[in-house]
Amino acid sequence: MERVILIKYGELTTKKGNRNFFVKTLSENVAHQLRTYPVTITKDLSRMYITFQEEHLDAILEAINRVFGIHMYHVAYKMKTDMKMIEETILQLAKEQKFSTFKVEVKRSDKSFPLSSLEFSAHLGGHLLKNIPQIKVDVHRPEVLFQVEVREGYSYLYSNAYEGLGGYPVGTQPKGMLMLSGGIDSPVSGYLAMKRGIKLEAVYFEALPHTSLEAREKVITLTRKLSKYTKQINLHIVPFTKLQEAIYQNIPSEYNITIMRRMMYRITEQLAKRYKALAIINGESIGQVASQTLHSMSVINSVTSMPVIRPVACLDKLEIIDLAKKIDTYETSILPFEDCCTIFVPKHPVINPNLEDCFKFEKNFDYETLIKETLAQVFTIKVVEEEQSTYQDLL
Ligand code: ATP
Ligand code: MG
Repeated sequence: MERVILIKYGELTTKKGNRNFFVKTLSENVAHQLRTYPVTITKDLSRMYITFQEEHLDAILEAINRVFGIHMYHVAYKMKTDMKMIEETILQLAKEQKFSTFKVEVKRSDKSFPLSSLEFSAHLGGHLLKNIPQIKVDVHRPEVLFQVEVREGYSYLYSNAYEGLGGYPVGTQPKGMLMLSGGIDSPVSGYLAMKRGIKLEAVYFEALPHTSLEAREKVITLTRKLSKYTKQINLHIVPFTKLQEAIYQNIPSEYNITIMRRMMYRITEQLAKRYKALAIINGESIGQVASQTLHSMSVINSVTSMPVIRPVACLDKLEIIDLAKKIDTYETSILPFEDCCTIFVPKHPVINPNLEDCFKFEKNFDYETLIKETLAQVFTIKVVEEEQSTYQDLL
């Protein structure tokens, strides 16, 4: 008998007006993840069905686990909506398993089917009790839950359940520009932003030769790990050396980081506009370091009117680390390469920076011209899941 994967959508079913768009985007994302397998995907407004070849099942389930917008999924037997056929199949499925308590749950959307959902549940339960000795019904905490969806034409039967990633399909929101350093927090922030349906562009600031190509490679690897959840991420690399050296030479050291981050925000905003991203996303976490106190954030943030989303702002470091491990970015993030933030770190960064002081210090050098020059030198790497990095070609 044919088996199919049956997908139940996540929160998107509550967004009635947008349902078509959500389902269409979700199915495109599923199709992308399964692009190397001979599958067919059919969908309606409440379910998606995927046919597959048995030898690919494990790999396909793993791929489905990378798609946001899926609440639950099941491997289900598909059969004609026919009482005898459903009886036979549920019995066969029950005989394949060892259990002592069970429950049958029927959802009937085919109103021409002669029994109601409740009647048919009771009927199928009775059928199992009659044919398998020593099993009992437990409606509250059954060891095995048999679920039957009776639809027009075909019915689906399953007793397994896998939890999906939840969230919204990537692409149901416009783009966001992720500030991606080599650290632990920003990849997790990118993941959480994608979970809300945001499509990512990423920006990385480097200060060669003070930072290494290995540091860049690390950021490319992190981008690739994030790209598993979407189709492709464009990583924009910003040569930040001149600006950073100018800051170092012209700004009192305790304000170095504050001013540097104001420059990063300004450049990120410009890139966001260039690539039609509507928000900046970063890995700032309240109180983590001097530049992430609320005082610092407000002074840094004031250079842009674009929304700045900080998905990990209110998480503890340990919670962020747990997520980083879950999405497999942690081991890469802790590789010890210098980042452009770490090399110019002053001994005593200001914790409560003053906006007027920022204005005053920023008059010490022509940062606008430097920003323009820097923006002209930004280059982009298209990062996809499986390919090796292509930046060497671009150098
Ligand atoms: P992370 O916060 O990702 O662990 P980090 O601790 O090195 O990295 P912070 O100094 O905490 O970074 O900076 C806060 C945020 O600013 C980062 O999460 C990231 O979003 C952004 N950021 C910092 N450095 C860079 C950089 N070199 N390129 C792009 N974004 C950066
Ligand atoms: Mg950090």
